[in-house]
Amino acid sequence: SSFSGLGLNDRINAHLLGQRIENPTKIQQQVIPRLLAGNNDLFVQAQTGSGKTLAFALPIFQKLMEIPNIDRTSGLFALILAPTRELATQIYSVFESLSRCHHKIVAGNVIGGEKKKSEKARLRKGVNILVATPGRLVDHIEHTQKLDLSKIRYVVLDEGDRLMELGFEESITKILHSISSTAVPLQYPSLPAKRISILCSATIKSTVKKLGELSLEKAELVTT
Ligand code: AMP
Repeated sequence: SSFSGLGLNDRINAHLLGQRIENPTKIQQQVIPRLLAGNNDLFVQAQTGSGKTLAFALPIFQKLMEIPNIDRTSGLFALILAPTRELATQIYSVFESLSRCHHKIVAGNVIGGEKKKSEKARLRKGVNILVATPGRLVDHIEHTQKLDLSKIRYVVLDEGDRLMELGFEESITKILHSISSTAVPLQYPSLPAKRISILCSATIKSTVKKLGELSLEKAELVTT
């Protein structure tokens, strides 16, 4: 099986080949076509090392590539929440590297630490994809004027088990509520009409099921 066989475009394929990523992993084989088809929320059971980051990043990036004349001012379309700064930074660097496939698509991150001012400046200039830790994002939603969540069409909750262990349930609830309550219709045919949510977790314990109830609607379970 190849990445182009899963429906990814030539630019993304060339980018992957350049990184010597040639064969999709099991989780990528399952998740990529589903997100490109684009109608279902997904509950993805996958360990770190399974290739789960590219499994959601590649199809989301491709969908944004299909927006005519997209640039950083077009809107924030995808939000990825991760439990730790380290993981958020890792995911952010995957999207940053993908922007070689389309230079006008801009990713940003809000991950806490000392950089709140520069995070805020970057958000003001506009990003299309945002990778965040939940606590810091709530801080920005409450204090950064004009952080516009109304166009978000993809929400990824990565390492759901750890998001719950680290006590982010309340922050995530707030974030999802802000997204739902501000959502506006979009005129882009490549994007889903309603928000698609993807919950990734290594385990499916009761806390993760609860997170699923908070964030997913009629989700399809994807395991390997
Ligand atoms: P992840 O499970 O997303 O944390 O990815 C683990 C590592 O596997 C990362 O360094 C990826 O660059 C790498 N990787 C992801 N997908 C593939 C693939 N299909 N072939 C080879 N390496 C991959």
